[in-house]
Amino acid sequence: MATVLCVLYPDPIDGYPPRYVRDAIPVITHYADGQTAPTPKEPLGFKPGELVGCVSGALGLHQYMEASGHRFIVTSDKDGPDSEFEKWLPEADVVISQPFWPAYLSAERIAKAKKLKLALTAGIGSDHVDLAAAARANIVVAEVTGSNSIGVAEHVVMSTLALVRNFLPSHRFAEQGGWNIADCVSRSYDIEGMHFGTVGAGRIGLAVLRRLKPFGLTLHYTQRHRLGADVERELDLIYHPDAASLASAVDIVNLQIPLYPSTENLFDAAMLARMRRGAYLINTARAQLVDRDAVVDAVTSGHLAGYAGDVWFPEPAPANHPWRTMPFNGMTPHVSGTSLSGQARYAAGTLEILQCFFDGKPIRPEYLIVDNGTLAGTGAKSYEMK
Ligand code: NAD
Repeated sequence: MATVLCVLYPDPIDGYPPRYVRDAIPVITHYADGQTAPTPKEPLGFKPGELVGCVSGALGLHQYMEASGHRFIVTSDKDGPDSEFEKWLPEADVVISQPFWPAYLSAERIAKAKKLKLALTAGIGSDHVDLAAAARANIVVAEVTGSNSIGVAEHVVMSTLALVRNFLPSHRFAEQGGWNIADCVSRSYDIEGMHFGTVGAGRIGLAVLRRLKPFGLTLHYTQRHRLGADVERELDLIYHPDAASLASAVDIVNLQIPLYPSTENLFDAAMLARMRRGAYLINTARAQLVDRDAVVDAVTSGHLAGYAGDVWFPEPAPANHPWRTMPFNGMTPHVSGTSLSGQARYAAGTLEILQCFFDGKPIRPEYLIVDNGTLAGTGAKSYEMK
């Protein structure tokens, strides 16, 4: 019997939903790059479209855990030495966590987790795990690559439109009974004709570019591995050798690279200063890619016209985090990758990975971040471990 320690975000404050606004979600079988959506063995343990990312939803895993006889601990209590997470960590063979409510697996915590063999991210982005420490301890790190990429790409498109068109303040005027056209539009532009650049054009970044193409923008990108000439031609992409070159060439910058030691603070005060006056910055990748206070200064001084995204540090963000109240922000809690649609896939992918792990079968390479003491699969392509 193994102990599976699962950290999920708390239930809705009004309680677990008795019903949903829609009766079903579309069935997605393949992603744009041809990768198949998760294919766990039946039964699935939940109905796609149900809220499974929270504690009561338990990723729909109760049935599987009961049938396979594993001890299954589900908690949202993840921070501090007296948390349920720290209490159970020394017993855990498997830890499941989510980027939206990350159970930070620091080197210190990994040192306490003597039995830990698998750190599974129910979602995408495993920077809440100290990858080098996990590799040293021979812990497999896996995530459900592809599961919520389109949801995040949609959030980026939405954030771009919301910032540039000044949607959020205009909505507030409407809600508060106003009809202040001039107030609404004195910061409002069309995105048509603007230059948009993404730092990272992997699964999400490329999906963003494809979705923005019909809006009539000029599209730029930079990333570690240059895209194929066919894709560059299809989308009329302008390639930049690095983020600094891209930052000064576009009106809207999107960040879509993983967080690892050398990408931390990539957008510091100097990089922000390279951006055009009145540019917008969108970040649904990871908060520590940017310097928190430098962003506040850039938006407050008017150098940047706005900042939007859904990633913070730490998470959950403290009530006094300056991005909550800085002007011209389009921030949400970390939600872009956990729509009910995304949850259905990352919960199914979590089950698939657990079944492989417990049945001694290989985990798909695209799901692997660390394996056999080193970066593997998607981890080897997208991360660095220094
Ligand atoms: P991906 O692995 O498909 O793509 C990442 C790309 O970044 C890769 O192609 C890689 O070559 C490139 N890259 C890595 N380091 C780089 C660097 N220093 N400079 C330029 N390019 C670099 O990942 P993805 O699925 O597109 O996700 C990207 C990131 O988005 C994740 O790592 C995660 O942090 C974040 N994410 C956020 C959410 C959310 O809910 N907000 C959900 C999913 C993913």
